[in-house]
Amino acid sequence: MNTGIRGPHGRGQRAMIVVGTCAVFAAMVAASPALAAKSSTKAAKGAPAAAPAAPFQDAVNAAYAKFKDTHEGKNADYIPALAAVDPNIYGVALITTDGKVYSTGDLTSQVSIQSISKVFTMALVMQEQGPDAIADNMGVDATGQVFNSIVAVEQNRGKEMNAMVNPGAIAATSMVSGASRDEIWSKVLAWYGDFAGRPLTVLQDVFKSESETNQRNQAIAMLMYAYERIKANPLQACDIYTEQCSVGVTAKDLAEMAATLANGGKNPVTGKQVMKTENVPKVLAVMATAGLYDDSGKWLFRTGLPAKSGVGGGIIAVCPGKFGIAVVSPPLDAAGNSVKAQNTIAEITSTLGANPYAVKPR
Ligand code: GLN
Repeated sequence: MNTGIRGPHGRGQRAMIVVGTCAVFAAMVAASPALAAKSSTKAAKGAPAAAPAAPFQDAVNAAYAKFKDTHEGKNADYIPALAAVDPNIYGVALITTDGKVYSTGDLTSQVSIQSISKVFTMALVMQEQGPDAIADNMGVDATGQVFNSIVAVEQNRGKEMNAMVNPGAIAATSMVSGASRDEIWSKVLAWYGDFAGRPLTVLQDVFKSESETNQRNQAIAMLMYAYERIKANPLQACDIYTEQCSVGVTAKDLAEMAATLANGGKNPVTGKQVMKTENVPKVLAVMATAGLYDDSGKWLFRTGLPAKSGVGGGIIAVCPGKFGIAVVSPPLDAAGNSVKAQNTIAEITSTLGANPYAVKPR
């Protein structure tokens, strides 16, 4: 039986130290005679609790069943193609840092990655220029405003913002090196594919629809150019940004992208070291600060996990050293975050005791 917890090299023991009081912790202790003997007087007396066969899969299944028939929120409709997406798409995937995949629901429908792409383009800029290039240009602070706020740009003159909201994200895209639009775009797309573990493609209907209704982002790009946070070609940066938002992903793709961040930048399924390990904490910090826009504080309070949402209905969250998780469900709340994805990830995080701030006192 493979629970996915006790991988090679004592992974289960390391996990135990951080996971603290939780179902998984109890399961690991019960499943490991050595740990049980050390940690549980009950086990020492020969009466260990039965270990769940697969705590990760059980947690995924239970959360899915709990929220499957809930119908809060509404698809994004400011991008016409998003309004037409099936609101019943609901897929959940969790991938551990030892590469095990736990999933349920709709794992084949692709949604557009939308703002989740911001994480990976920012990571690419960090890869090329170092994390300070991001901190020094658009900043790493929360704006406290909606993701496409123009007021936020004005208040901060394009600085003291971050790459998880549109102005900072379009500026980040403008920072990716390349001699031509094609060269920049190919690099961005291949980079996303390395995180997802497969080549990704653009949902052309979404790209077309957003390109036709993209005047606000164009204005943001021009404003960031005026404030010299975008150095050249602002409309090209906006166009590439729009294309990156239109990349199609499944819940499993997103979970693998998140799991790569959870695993120090190495894709735990393909084994490829995608990004520099030393940049991962910087990426996760910006996600924690603003990944769910002006609701990021509420989210961190609820789960403790760095996360990123997109108006396509996806959310990724990262439990460093343990797993990446993703849920896809298009209906959004007022802040633009998938309602079901938030509830599902929060539920699974709680069941697994995966809030990294929750530790047992020594
Ligand atoms: N492409 C979308 C936009 O720029 C992404 C927004 C989002 O996912 N929050 O408006």
